[in-house]
Amino acid sequence: MGSTAAERRKDEFLAMVSHELRSPLASIQYASRALGSLHMEAGDRHRMQTLIERQLHRMTRLLDELTEVSRIANGHLHLQHERVDLREVVRNAIETLEADITARAHRLCVLVPDVAVWMRADPARLEQVFVNLLANASKYMDVGGELTVSMHVTESDAVVRVRDSGIGIAAEALPRIFDLYRQAHDSDPRSRSGLGIGLAVVRNLVTLHGGSVTAASRGFGQGSEFIVRLPMGS
Ligand code: ADP
Repeated sequence: MGSTAAERRKDEFLAMVSHELRSPLASIQYASRALGSLHMEAGDRHRMQTLIERQLHRMTRLLDELTEVSRIANGHLHLQHERVDLREVVRNAIETLEADITARAHRLCVLVPDVAVWMRADPARLEQVFVNLLANASKYMDVGGELTVSMHVTESDAVVRVRDSGIGIAAEALPRIFDLYRQAHDSDPRSRSGLGIGLAVVRNLVTLHGGSVTAASRGFGQGSEFIVRLPMGS
């Protein structure tokens, strides 16, 4: 890709970040003005405080994501390797997303080996990989979707597949979805709620672990599958 295209994407990204920060700020400003007014019932006061907290939480999450990306992009990330059972890592990621998956009434099927899948990895970073993939799977399915997480071991690798029955990805968009700031469904409100960062983080973290990640989809409306391969010896 030429640098102008990359620059344009970055400009769009910055515009999106500004927008994402501006809207919670506007809510906070509104609520704080309201709280300043003398005649306010306790119930309204509580509602305004909750609004402020929710918006602050949203901004914090966004800033955390941005810090994370710049750290990864600048190579300032040091993995803390330890001996981990990949099944445990995946289970923790599922636990993190469980409330969201249940709230959206998705059916979740988890197929992992009966025995431990040992490898050397940074458990927190690896968990983030699966959290991002599961969050996307949940987000890009209509309510009541099918989500399958499966794991198997080959001679050299552990392979984890995250499959959903969601909106899918058009063939022409597939090769680019792991690029930073890239979104495959520009006009879809679900894409608009994100920043096109999650999959870039996934790819970087998997690569740092010596593995690879690929995406497959039969096309729009046909669901998607993300396949993570991690070397067992790493
Ligand atoms: P976003 O914040 O936009 O979700 P990501 O980097 O996580 O950013 O994903 C990039 C794009 O890839 C998304 O905007 C979406 O178009 C597409 N995508 C990611 N995961 C899925 C999925 N499970 N199903 C359909 N499309 C997906």
